[in-house]
Amino acid sequence: ARFFAIREYPRGVPPRELFELHEEELPQLAEGEVRIRNSWLSVDPYMRGRMSGVRTYIAPFELNAPLEGGAIGEVIESRHARFKPGDKVRHMAGWRDVAQLKGEVLEPLPDMEVPEQAYLGVLGMPGMTAWTGLNRIANLREGDNVLVSAAGGAVGSLAVQLAKARGGTVVGIAGARDKLTWLEQHDIRPVSYKDKEARQLSEELKTACPDGFDVYYENVGGACLEAALDNLKVGARIAICGLISRYNQEEPQHGPGNLANLLIKRARMQGFIIFDHWTDYPHFLEEVGPLVAKGEIDYEETIEAGLERMPDAFIKLFEGANRGKMLVRL
Ligand code: NDP
Repeated sequence: ARFFAIREYPRGVPPRELFELHEEELPQLAEGEVRIRNSWLSVDPYMRGRMSGVRTYIAPFELNAPLEGGAIGEVIESRHARFKPGDKVRHMAGWRDVAQLKGEVLEPLPDMEVPEQAYLGVLGMPGMTAWTGLNRIANLREGDNVLVSAAGGAVGSLAVQLAKARGGTVVGIAGARDKLTWLEQHDIRPVSYKDKEARQLSEELKTACPDGFDVYYENVGGACLEAALDNLKVGARIAICGLISRYNQEEPQHGPGNLANLLIKRARMQGFIIFDHWTDYPHFLEEVGPLVAKGEIDYEETIEAGLERMPDAFIKLFEGANRGKMLVRL
């Protein structure tokens, strides 16, 4: 089996050479274990946090050991009563071609009319994050005006569509041109953040939605957050989902200078980590699964081919080179 590992924790944007491909002979299956041939691997921004050597809400990656991440594969050998060869499963032993795990940590794939890799994206962790952030954290209501940053990515592209379905004005901040075009095609007002200070971004948000926002779904931080704070309606709710503009920065950054808007607008800002909400996953699937299966939700995927491309796919997240969910197909 082949897997990726890192030998040190990087500073700044992780360089390609950080990631080393190793080969190992897997031991025979022990009682209760299952061997899986992975077919799809996920790369996600949170993985950068696990490369910092510091425990956050989750332990850092171990050095020189297989990296971890969401994956989908097929059981090829089993000594667990619940699984047999041919079963499709989801698990966290990504960054490798073949995984060997205790049956207890495997999740059988739900049975819906969608391609299997959707369970790593629109119907997986990122989709669940978009739905939870809007509904459980920001308490999205009918007619709300909603602003989403990193709006053309895996989380953001579902967030804008779920928000749009509630009837208010939806504005999406993104960088890459193709994301801005995609947003426009879905009747989301696009705003580019590239090369803009908070003040200019703030003006453009005002033009895009003069009445201001009831909800801000935050994926980026920095100038995006500051510009959003200038454009809140009274009683606005901000869900802090991610702060990707900071993940590769080593030095602490100054916070927004206009936090007074939270006070003036009696607004609320709350962070969340999706793992705490996983018991809600069946509700999410029940609601969003059929919409995806019927084609009422449009989800995009950016696919790299081959295990060797994992580091490249991961680094591309920080370059904005993915539209929708970034995946690697084996
Ligand atoms: P995306 O698919 O959105 O990929 C990341 C995107 O972020 C890039 O395509 C890029 O798009 C944008 N980006 C990258 N660097 C910057 C930057 N410096 N400034 C502004 N935009 C940048 O990833 P996900 O959908 O998987 O994740 C989105 C956010 O949600 C992340 O912050 C992630 O950490 C967070 N998250 C949080 C979870 C939680 O439990 N709280 C769970 C899952 C995700 P562009 O072209 O627009 O620059």
